Amino acid sequence: MNPSFKLFRLQQIDSQLDQANNRLAEIARELAEDSVLSEAQQSLQAAQHANFTAENELRQAGEAVKAVRDKLKENQDQLYGGKVTNPKELQDLQSEAEVLTRQLSALEDAELEKLAASEEHSAAREAAQANLEAVIAQRGAESQTLGAEQAELQTEVERLAGDRQLALNGVEAEPLALYTQLRGSKAGMAVAKVTGDSCSACGMELSAALLQAARSPSELSRCAACKRILYAG
Ligand SMILES: [Zn+2]
Repeated sequence: MNPSFKLFRLQQIDSQLDQANNRLAEIARELAEDSVLSEAQQSLQAAQHANFTAENELRQAGEAVKAVRDKLKENQDQLYGGKVTNPKELQDLQSEAEVLTRQLSALEDAELEKLAASEEHSAAREAAQANLEAVIAQRGAESQTLGAEQAELQTEVERLAGDRQLALNGVEAEPLALYTQLRGSKAGMAVAKVTGDSCSACGMELSAALLQAARSPSELSRCAACKRILYAG
């Protein structure tokens, strides 16, 4: 039997091992990745801060309205209370009432604006809170799925490592060294199957002599173009 048969079997196992190990590395990265979570946390923090500021401004606007309203009430009590009778004083009170009424109207408008802003920020804060909760829930589900896949892959890697030990039986040192070297230099693919009369790895059409050599029971042959070990099947 051509020695490439054993190397081809080894190649199949190593390719599966590569795939499993790549996926395991990817899973480890995904499990460690928390940018979505920290983004949601930062958004909530910003929304909480904005909401706090808006509520403060609303309270201050309310206090300003109340202060002017109190002043106006005092003014009206004096104006219509009957205690002040001096016409000059009454006129001053009348002027003050006009100024205070204008002030009150402007402050009430400002308070309404602050109220609308505060409601908006409060809704934004609630949305940010809900988003964070959704991210945490989704992450939990994702972690569970990834964890299950990780466990399966680890079992598969162990099984493949066992298969690899068996496949190494009877592989001589020299072909194994070549195989290992080609695995390193040919993106993990050291052995190419002959498909039709071409190398399946690079597509090169193989000469009749090379095709015959690939079927030789004793010698290893290599693709003239990509230099991989040929396995004729
Ligand atoms: Zn080739």
